[in-house]
Amino acid sequence: MRIKNIHENFTIVDAHLDLLYDIEINRSKGYKRVIEREYLPEFKEGGINIIVSSIFIDKDFLPELALRKALDQISAFYSELDEAEENFALVKNLRDLEETLAQGKIGILLSFEGVEPLLDDINLLRIFYELGVRIVGLTWSRRNYAADGCSYSKFQDSKNGLSDFGRQVVKEAERLGMLIDVSHLNDAGFWDVIEISTQPIIASHSNCRALNGIMRNLTDEQIRALAKTGGVIGINAVSTLVAERNADVKALVDHVDHLRDVAGIHHIGLGLDFCDKIFELPNPRKNPKSKGLYDVIEGHKNIYQLTEELINRGYGDDEIRLIYGENFLRVFKEVILK
Ligand SMILES: [Zn+2]
Repeated sequence: MRIKNIHENFTIVDAHLDLLYDIEINRSKGYKRVIEREYLPEFKEGGINIIVSSIFIDKDFLPELALRKALDQISAFYSELDEAEENFALVKNLRDLEETLAQGKIGILLSFEGVEPLLDDINLLRIFYELGVRIVGLTWSRRNYAADGCSYSKFQDSKNGLSDFGRQVVKEAERLGMLIDVSHLNDAGFWDVIEISTQPIIASHSNCRALNGIMRNLTDEQIRALAKTGGVIGINAVSTLVAERNADVKALVDHVDHLRDVAGIHHIGLGLDFCDKIFELPNPRKNPKSKGLYDVIEGHKNIYQLTEELINRGYGDDEIRLIYGENFLRVFKEVILK
């Protein structure tokens, strides 16, 4: 009963899903109404209200075609909106958010997962803002004109911080009213953002390095610094970020406990980053011989498993309400949804 109430009545935000990437590929194969058919039933079952969809560019298109691919992804999304606007909406400002929630639609915010589409032209950031992009993840786990991405291992070769262009991106994004996302950034870049940013920053989909020591996760020092800006860290359900061994829902909630202890309950959110479906990963649970990564929760329809574990550990409804949406909404309203 309590779980049902949470999923039906709380505003639930998932701050990271590679949705645009997937719909663009599907539409290029001739499929239509991709979100409606492939995603909406799961979103509804999990009680999801807001999704942040990243614009992620496959390495095959770098560098020259990054801009074109980003525009293709946004165009594919706009076509999806035309086909099923009764079910979901692009959220660009506070009025969009309020209308979307009141009408029971799924609200979608757009983010960069790496600024490759800008190449090194700062003027293009404004264009993407006009198209609806509100969150700027400076890098994926690779280098671009703005900064270096982090590795997925315990070691990081690159010690470079933001480039001059990267600093320009942070400043121009903040001027336009965009939110900076540090997930995938290397440590030096992270500290540069902390130094030059003047507003709350987020790590949309990152876990704790103290529990799983890969560079893709955040150190306690980083978690505290990010919390000090007023920002939020979205817990990531991809096995490689959760734990080296036995990655499961319990291990994921260990990250919630740790974030609560280090930063406090007001700085935790969901950035589940479900990958199984989008990247057609061989799931080790279905194929024991595969050593690949997998989602520790099988899609949005199963996030009640997370709720169950949080309740088992004594989290109150007020705390779950913050983790599941209110914390991210607080930052969104402060920085981008005015
Ligand atoms: Zn990512």
